[in-house]
Amino acid sequence: MDTEYDLTIIGGGPVGMFAAFYAGMRNAKVQLLESLPELGGQVQALYPEKMIHDIAGYPAIKGRELVKQLTAQLQEFPIDIHTKSAVSDVTGKMGDFTITTVNGDVSHSKAIIVATGTGAFEPRKLAVEGADRFEDQQLFYHIPSLDAFRDHTVLVAGGGDSAIDMALMLEPVAKQVYIMHRRNRFRGMEHSVDLLEASSVTIKTPFLIKALHRLDNGQLDLMMKEVRGDAEEHLAVDDLVVNYGFIADNKALQAWQVTPEMAHQLITVNTEMNTDVPGMAAIGDAITFPGKLGLIASGFGEAPNAVNQLMMQLYPERRSPLHSTTLFEKRAHDQK
Ligand SMILES: Cc1cc2nc3c(=O)[nH]c(=O)nc-3n(C[C@H](O)[C@H](O)[C@H](O)COP(=O)(O)OP(=O)(O)OC[C@H]3O[C@@H](n4cnc5c(N)ncnc54)[C@H](O)[C@@H]3O)c2cc1C
Repeated sequence: MDTEYDLTIIGGGPVGMFAAFYAGMRNAKVQLLESLPELGGQVQALYPEKMIHDIAGYPAIKGRELVKQLTAQLQEFPIDIHTKSAVSDVTGKMGDFTITTVNGDVSHSKAIIVATGTGAFEPRKLAVEGADRFEDQQLFYHIPSLDAFRDHTVLVAGGGDSAIDMALMLEPVAKQVYIMHRRNRFRGMEHSVDLLEASSVTIKTPFLIKALHRLDNGQLDLMMKEVRGDAEEHLAVDDLVVNYGFIADNKALQAWQVTPEMAHQLITVNTEMNTDVPGMAAIGDAITFPGKLGLIASGFGEAPNAVNQLMMQLYPERRSPLHSTTLFEKRAHDQK
């Protein structure tokens, strides 16, 4: 791919996806580069089955469904989308940045919007010898689909909100759900903990998984040891879901030849979402500014700011942003 784009969005999480759509609506020639095999960022990779309640216009929407809607919105415009395309280097300057991916693909862009979230992330793994043998078969770090757990006995390991969410989501589908945490108190919000306690989920605390192996009947035998105690218990389950959070870093970004200023691994931006590199804006979980919230809704607000101000810099002769209805009507008219 050796094309010149107006805008390149690096990172295809929810915020990058919305930015790409918005840039398309502003008639920009856009590409969206994502390192993972699918778009959707944390929402798709970490909590596709979780209900999200704080997206404007949706009283409740599953992560997976939100990504589907964002994908449908993206398809309104001819945006070049490249997955499995982690950006390994950026050189050049405003008007002619050169972007290289790990695959060796090179493209050129007048401006860039960095939407890499907290970086290439992966779940914090279960530190038990041989656990990786069961990965994606009986040991999961996210819930690929609820149906995969129908009528199964499942243990969820973890004590935060998302571990509790997972246990509660599995409860109506699975035969029996256990949740295990290394402390007696869960870290989740009070409301979630109340729901958990009122549910049929069996709580096992304070325990840690010390060993696991496959039984003759195909189930997993979990050897659990009491934290600061001697008690040991064995539990046979069909599946183990581990939710110990995730590790993310922006090391790839720091290796770019043209890299924006960062503080504590987050990109510092001004009120227009500009980094200290002219022509390079940043949005979403990748950034920090006083009062920044790590929420999808905040990122959705930052995206039009970044797109509009970059477009005004690139094309000062073009009119300021119009309302979406006018832009869609104008496009329909131009296409006639
Ligand atoms: C368990 C959990 C529950 C949550 N619940 C909510 C909620 O209910 N409501 C809410 O508003 N928020 C919630 N959040 C936070 C929300 O998911 C994030 O705020 C949101 O995903 C940020 O979107 P983003 O697009 O900025 O970043 P991300 O979703 O992190 O996406 C960034 C993307 O960039 C890609 N990338 C990274 N580096 C590169 C590179 N070098 N080249 C190409 N691509 C790259 C990554 O692979 C990733 O796909 C939750 C988060 C978690 C973990």
